[in-house]
Amino acid sequence: MDVTQADIAIVGAGIAGASLAAMIGDRAQVVLIEAESQPGYHSTGRSAAFWSESYGGPLVQPLTAASRPWLEANGFLHPRGCIHVADAQGRAALDDLATEMAECGVEHAWLDRAALEAAIPGLRPEFTVGLTEPTCRDIDVGGLHGDFLSRARRSGTILLTDAEVTDIARTESGWRIATRAGDVSSRVVVNAAGAWASRIAAMAGASAVDIQPYRRTIAQLTTDPAMAPAMPLVMDALGRFYFKPEAGGRLWLSPHDETPVEPHDVAPEELDVAIAIDRFEHVVDWRVIRRERAWAGLRSFAPDRLPVYGFDGQAPGFFWFAGQGGFGIQTAPAAAMLAAAVLLGEALPEPVAAIDPERYSPRRFG
Ligand SMILES: Cc1cc2nc3c(=O)[nH]c(=O)nc-3n(C[C@H](O)[C@H](O)[C@H](O)COP(=O)(O)OP(=O)(O)OC[C@H]3O[C@@H](n4cnc5c(N)ncnc54)[C@H](O)[C@@H]3O)c2cc1C
Repeated sequence: MDVTQADIAIVGAGIAGASLAAMIGDRAQVVLIEAESQPGYHSTGRSAAFWSESYGGPLVQPLTAASRPWLEANGFLHPRGCIHVADAQGRAALDDLATEMAECGVEHAWLDRAALEAAIPGLRPEFTVGLTEPTCRDIDVGGLHGDFLSRARRSGTILLTDAEVTDIARTESGWRIATRAGDVSSRVVVNAAGAWASRIAAMAGASAVDIQPYRRTIAQLTTDPAMAPAMPLVMDALGRFYFKPEAGGRLWLSPHDETPVEPHDVAPEELDVAIAIDRFEHVVDWRVIRRERAWAGLRSFAPDRLPVYGFDGQAPGFFWFAGQGGFGIQTAPAAAMLAAAVLLGEALPEPVAAIDPERYSPRRFG
């Protein structure tokens, strides 16, 4: 079987791998290697599709903010808004969030009970205070991922699908990567394998950075009354639920679950869906009419919950682009610009020039 030659082989064609290929394809010969027949089948295709500057904390926020101009200019953001709500238990967490938003320069405003009730009709009386995040947006995830893939293709990137990587061996000039669709030879390997990132690193003898996948569930519901299409994302200050409108009067509801699991093609657990609906019914007085569908996806985090971008400390030519957690879509353009510059040894481009790539380096784990 022929060996596909490349400067850079990227393992994983989700949003991470696709965005990086789009940003470097004009300066390097890239092969994008995907285990599935459909790129985007795993986490990327299962997200809640929102862009929220407060999500992920102060060290993720610069990547989210720096992605906004690119996402807006290309038409991938749509108005949504978010209201963080708190009951008595959640009040301190909401105060902390307000402080963090102020420190990061994220627009926000307090809502008292009357304003909350007007914004979320039927909200149970225990929820007495809210915090708006008006800049929150919906992201067209399919459009964004497809756009990255087509930019990559136009610049000559080869996409191999049904090409699970089974072995990575060092050669004199770089790497020999065995896949189910044939071998690839490259100078550099990029680990954009999402939940499988630690396994790819182990194959290459790279550092044992522990990228842990966690299951998260979303259920699509119809309710009475139906959630109005212009309503905001409603997010609990204590992280017990969030919900947002979906087309046709439906809503997407998550119990904000975070169950550690092995990397796999994850399915929703009935118990998580039941917990979500039970919590929801304690938040608003709306009646759940139908559970139309539910799905689960994996959010994969490094131990400090920051992403991992950069060359490995122990395996030369092995580059990490992993640990995108719950923010991999909203940070994709800026993360890929930053990683592209580090990977190719270039100056950081203007949108990410103020971000220090060292804070995301895998070498922080020793
Ligand atoms: C329920 C849920 C809601 C979310 N909501 C949001 C949100 O609102 N906003 C946001 O920004 N983010 C959100 N996220 C997070 C976001 O989806 C992820 O951060 C992002 O999709 C990660 O992208 P990725 O490319 O790293 O991973 P994936 O999309 O999982 O891509 C990794 C790819 O690597 C491939 N791969 C793995 N092993 C191999 C191998 N051996 N050989 C070849 N290929 C391999 C896999 O097949 C896969 O396609 C959410 C996630 C979940 C689960």
